[in-house]
Amino acid sequence: MGHALEAIDISKSYASSGGDVTIIKKLRFHADRNEFVSFVGPSGCGKSTLFNIITGLLAPDEGSIIVENQETTGQTSSKIGYVLQKDLLFPWRTVRDNVILGLEIRGVSKRDARERAKAMLHIYRMDGYEDKFPSQLSGGMRQRVALMRTMITDPQIILMDESYKALDYPLKIALESELLDVVRKEKKTVIFITHDIEEAVTLSDRVYVMKARPGEIINEIKIDLETDSPFIPERRMSPRFNDYYEMIWRNIGISPVLV
Ligand code: ADP
Ligand code: MG
Repeated sequence: MGHALEAIDISKSYASSGGDVTIIKKLRFHADRNEFVSFVGPSGCGKSTLFNIITGLLAPDEGSIIVENQETTGQTSSKIGYVLQKDLLFPWRTVRDNVILGLEIRGVSKRDARERAKAMLHIYRMDGYEDKFPSQLSGGMRQRVALMRTMITDPQIILMDESYKALDYPLKIALESELLDVVRKEKKTVIFITHDIEEAVTLSDRVYVMKARPGEIINEIKIDLETDSPFIPERRMSPRFNDYYEMIWRNIGISPVLV
């Protein structure tokens, strides 16, 4: 059996006044079923561009994307769900109507969609918020609604682009623990983008480290924190955490910022 998702030698460049600029160069990677894979790399190394290519929103100059053994390059696969960097909810729609958006597009009946939304809201401990509007929610709740909106269509592969970036630390930890728990139970494949090494190490089974200009994969690290706990603080306190953190940090080679 092949991988859940495979990318073969993906390259992309943009035309600029000084000639073509290569954004990403020959990226080759895979993610398996039930695996949590992260990409970590500095701002501008092409992470979001890569996601746009995986989802078919952008065509690569070269290379192919294969989803469960089928080539989907330049197309949108229904097996992939995309949680955007910003929690882009429609402000004029209620929580329920935001959550069921993807089902509406797929022509699921309003009644079935509402029932599934109710079950989703229960899983994410937001019972009773159906009729609220995004402006009435906290940042964490809005992020949860964005995740529910993706999960409700039951994609096999979930892409998350710095989804927890704007959240304060305790909330981020709570949502990440919840995410790990849910995706493991539902046997999803997650491909997660972050520039935060700690986040990549605590969440992932495997990490691809990228560098910028051009965006290339410079290392692949298998993570084993020797715990099955989905609880982030537990994972963070694994004695092996620091070794992985240091390995990636040395790869990326950021010098300390002097303040
Ligand atoms: P990341 O998500 O890793 O921060 P992006 O994929 O957003 O990086 O961007 C990678 C690089 O590609 C950046 O230097 C950005 O300026 C450039 N870029 C992104 N989109 C375009 C575009 N449509 N035209 C030209 N350059 C772009
Ligand atoms: Mg980005």
